[in-house]
Amino acid sequence: MVKQEADASLKDKIAIVTGGSRGIGATIAKILAANGASVMINYNTSKDAAESVIAEINQYGGKAFACKANVGNIDEAQYLIEETKKQFGRVDILVNNAGITRDRTFKKLSAEDWYEVINVNLNSIYHTTSAVIDTMLEQKYGRIINISSIIGQSGAFGQTNYSASKSGMIGFTKSLALETAKNGVTVNAVCPGFIDTEMFAAVPDQVIEQIVSKIPMKRLGATEEVAEAVLFLAKSSYITGQSINVNGGAYM
Ligand code: NAP
Repeated sequence: MVKQEADASLKDKIAIVTGGSRGIGATIAKILAANGASVMINYNTSKDAAESVIAEINQYGGKAFACKANVGNIDEAQYLIEETKKQFGRVDILVNNAGITRDRTFKKLSAEDWYEVINVNLNSIYHTTSAVIDTMLEQKYGRIINISSIIGQSGAFGQTNYSASKSGMIGFTKSLALETAKNGVTVNAVCPGFIDTEMFAAVPDQVIEQIVSKIPMKRLGATEEVAEAVLFLAKSSYITGQSINVNGGAYM
């Protein structure tokens, strides 16, 4: 549950959360809304899940809409940004959260596994950000927050495609931050460690036990713990080009 001591300091701010229908993205959407933002919840296939996030936000008086768009497709990503402007009039916060895994050792990795992950996780942030950046630069305000991963920092067995996509997000974050800083647009990344979501549910129990045993805090993270870092970056004004690790000490 999103904490109730939320304030309204993001009042009048318009946020887009890609992949906001489930997992970390759904919690990010709820915490931004609980802090006053109006939120566009992007999803690709999970319409019902997106609608239940909206219902929860509406319950505490927040405003949210949903938009179906595959952010791996540039036309659909542009549609997402246009729809947001149509519904809310502007865009202030873009959270690039949508992501997938197709884990295989490199020897077994197909070209399709490679391209799909790079497309949904990395090309997507070009698709959404390029569609919104002019607006943010003109209004001299913007918060772009990219959900990378510990795997982009440490690497992982069977995840060359995913790791490459998540490292790419960090390089993108630093470079774009340099280009947009003087116009009041900050660009940051959040690198979650191992978070208890459906993405992680595909991992066998034995592997989870091994992973947890290596985490200094000896547990998986909660989606709320990642969302709090996103909220912090959305509210902050003098932090840019950074990656915040939310990983229980698993990578320092
Ligand atoms: P999740 O539970 O599997 O949810 C993924 C979300 O992304 C869903 O809302 C899904 O929407 C959306 N999505 C997938 N492909 C999409 C596409 N082509 N276009 C638009 N939306 C798409 O994943 P999660 O665990 O919350 O992960 C969220 C982000 O955090 C990802 O970028 C992931 O890499 C990163 N991360 C997760 C962990 C972890 O341990 N869970 C750790 C580090 C980083 P639909 O259901 O509608 O397709």
